[in-house]
Amino acid sequence: MTPEPEQSERQHESQHQPESQRQPESQRQPESAGEPEVARHAESMVRRDDKGGFPAQQQDPPGLTSRMHPVPDHGEDTYIGHGRLEGLRALITGGDSGIGRAVAIAFAREGADVAIGYLPDEQSDAEETLGWVERAGRKGVLVPGDLVDRETCRRVVAQAVGGLGGLDILVNNAGYHWDRGGDGIEGLQPEHVERVLRTNLHAVLWLCQAASPHLGTGASIITTTSIQAYDPSPALLDYAATKAALNNLTVNLAAALGPRGIRVNAVAPGPIWTPLQPATRGTDTIETFGADTPLGRAGQPAEVAPAYVFLASPADASYVSGTVLGVTGGKATL
Ligand code: NAD
Ligand code: MG
Repeated sequence: MTPEPEQSERQHESQHQPESQRQPESQRQPESAGEPEVARHAESMVRRDDKGGFPAQQQDPPGLTSRMHPVPDHGEDTYIGHGRLEGLRALITGGDSGIGRAVAIAFAREGADVAIGYLPDEQSDAEETLGWVERAGRKGVLVPGDLVDRETCRRVVAQAVGGLGGLDILVNNAGYHWDRGGDGIEGLQPEHVERVLRTNLHAVLWLCQAASPHLGTGASIITTTSIQAYDPSPALLDYAATKAALNNLTVNLAAALGPRGIRVNAVAPGPIWTPLQPATRGTDTIETFGADTPLGRAGQPAEVAPAYVFLASPADASYVSGTVLGVTGGKATL
């Protein structure tokens, strides 16, 4: 595996520190911890100001983090845990990269053990995320598999439960779209539509079904939907429809599992800089990706993860179920 330069440097520093001097990531303060909160926040907004757009680039699906320019920010240097998920066990599908990696890092620093679902081609990304979970002092488990069929969904849940000794949080985050076929209904291709529906919708049903018997009172399910559920692009007809369906499923499943004390919620991100984008879009849309939001830029995975922490926290979100939390850079989720 050849991690991206930024991350190799981070690993290098930590590897060369004596074990006795290393602090668990969950307790580590970022270098700017002494500054007032507002100053720190302003600094991070400047660092994340992507108004200039992104350099033209393309990958084949599923896409790898190390081939992105710039490499996304998953909160490696900034996320500080506060024990909100102490002792909980989470399965995050698509946990290798992008939003899933940021959620894995945040969950681990909040005290959770994490199973990471991913496609076999993404082994290097999954191992990188696993490293961050372990450096937070938590247990990490790798559960590769293509979730397009029910049997794999069941196997992935079973391996996560086996590896973690149970399950308290299911994050249905794996997702796929294809935006290179031309606008509208004429651009739809059977193999892509099939993969979009099976990955985004069928798999979520099978994962929830397989996980449900393992979830107890205080457990929760969080699904990644999208701004596309509210403000759909004609180039993503099939994808947008699956995300709207997941919003509906969230409300319905919250009603079904509420009597067991299980909360079901969703996060609807706006444009976020992750491997999914260069892997499935044309370069022309990459250069302006996120520019049409009120904040005028794409978000970073690190800016989405706190929404999942809130929804997963049995204390902070104890009465929050059946809701979809938008993290959209200002685009309406109405
Ligand atoms: P990403 O490429 O980093 O993550 C998507 C992950 O989905 C991949 O890493 C892969 O492991 C997994 N995946 C895809 N097909 C799979 C399959 N058949 N079986 C198993 N795993 C599979 O990109 P991301 O943007 O972080 O995507 C995470 C979620 O966020 C997706 O559901 C996506 O639809 C959603 N989303 C992304 C954006 C955005 O702008 N990036 C916006 C709204 C919603
Ligand atoms: Mg990936």
